[in-house]
Amino acid sequence: MTEVVATNQTILVVGGGISGMTAAIEAAECGKQVVLLEKSPTLGGRTALLYRYFPKLCHPTCGLEINLGRIKANRNIRVVTLAEVSRIEGGRGDYTATVKVSPRYVNEHCTACGACGEAVSDVVPNPYNYNMNQMKAAYLPHVMAYPQRYVIDPSIVGTAEGVKAKAACNYGAVDLDMQEATLTIKAGAVVWATGWQPYDAAKIQPYGYDRFANVITSLEFERLADPHGPTGGRILRPSDGKEAKNVAFIQCAGSRDENHLRHCSRICCMASLKQTQYVSEAWGAAAKSTVYYIDIRAIDRFEDFYQKVQKDPTVNFTKSKVAKITQDKSGDVILHGVDTEGYHRYENAHDLAVLAIGMQPSVAGADIPAEIIADSSGFIEASVADSGFFGAGCATNALDVNRAVQSSTAAALRAIQVINRVAKAEA
Ligand SMILES: Cc1cc2nc3c(=O)[nH]c(=O)nc-3n(C[C@H](O)[C@H](O)[C@H](O)COP(=O)(O)OP(=O)(O)OC[C@H]3O[C@@H](n4cnc5c(N)ncnc54)[C@H](O)[C@@H]3O)c2cc1C
Repeated sequence: MTEVVATNQTILVVGGGISGMTAAIEAAECGKQVVLLEKSPTLGGRTALLYRYFPKLCHPTCGLEINLGRIKANRNIRVVTLAEVSRIEGGRGDYTATVKVSPRYVNEHCTACGACGEAVSDVVPNPYNYNMNQMKAAYLPHVMAYPQRYVIDPSIVGTAEGVKAKAACNYGAVDLDMQEATLTIKAGAVVWATGWQPYDAAKIQPYGYDRFANVITSLEFERLADPHGPTGGRILRPSDGKEAKNVAFIQCAGSRDENHLRHCSRICCMASLKQTQYVSEAWGAAAKSTVYYIDIRAIDRFEDFYQKVQKDPTVNFTKSKVAKITQDKSGDVILHGVDTEGYHRYENAHDLAVLAIGMQPSVAGADIPAEIIADSSGFIEASVADSGFFGAGCATNALDVNRAVQSSTAAALRAIQVINRVAKAEA
């Protein structure tokens, strides 16, 4: 099925994380028509998978809820989930995008009652907990999911499990015959808000992420601390479920490294400082966090947060680039390196090692069917002369949420300028 939507007065936003949501809202609240595409079943992106936000340590649900409210209230925004651009043609003021929409197997009658999830017994890896646990094959991605609509995993379509899910639904919402669809979308400008992905930790071989269960990434640690995460919010180490009270945070895991990512991922220092507070909150005086760092990059108002953490007696700082990690028979991870303040060699044992993993643009290495101009790290240029393509948020750089939102507002403004020129030329 091919449906043609929108006109060249429309702004197409690709990526439904906090950046894409912001760009869409800002443009729509200026009266522009927006189509917001998201490749996963829900808006929110990686922000929705954080436990708390630095520097205030508030819950991301707060910011997301406000933005979801603005989206729901605005008829100028059409949200399409499970959608990816497969082709885009034309130029500034006149693009035509071909968009592939994958089936959710659940229609708009879904009330998110959960009966389908209860009916099925098959499970699949849970990407919303970075595959640290499994979820039912009929699932709601997470509590903040928008649309609040279940998803049937394709693995049970055509099986008895799929039939059970359909039979359990009292609203006729499970549609196992749903097919892939194609949309053709006309747009005057395109905002690329495709975000970021974690660098592949297994590539940092000396740290043994692919060999040692108790070496995890900072993103996985966010999920461990979250009550909706795989351990119900208890900070337990993966190998044996032991309470992880003595935690090592390893900075620049992948970033600022010629062999991996050359750029500084900017937010990792703040993310680790924040995560030391998850440890002290969980275990009180018994907590012990050690941050292994080259230098701490806390800018602007974040410096206050850094100073606050420095005063926390449960947090220690070791100025060192960790050379390698091993794991002993008890499951403890042993960090090897040299403390550059004093030049002592150390072999320090911890319950758990958390790699502050670098951020790379999600379009790096991906097959984006458009001529996007990117820098040497693969981040999209925010704007290029004579182009109607604009980058927003972490697609353009490693940014915290606040800066991602600012960048997206700027992208929306540039896109509106293009649309206004089109309208003027056609008047
Ligand atoms: C460990 C860690 C902790 C952090 N903690 C904080 C914090 O406390 N405070 C803070 O301010 N920041 C924090 N950040 C940074 C924060 O995660 C980012 O600022 C935020 O995710 C940026 O949002 P975004 O929308 O630009 O990108 P994303 O969150 O990556 O969203 C991009 C969206 O685009 C979609 N997408 C990708 N490609 C396509 C495509 N081709 N077609 C359609 N859709 C696509 C994705 O599915 C995703 O939904 C942290 C980062 C890390 C690594």
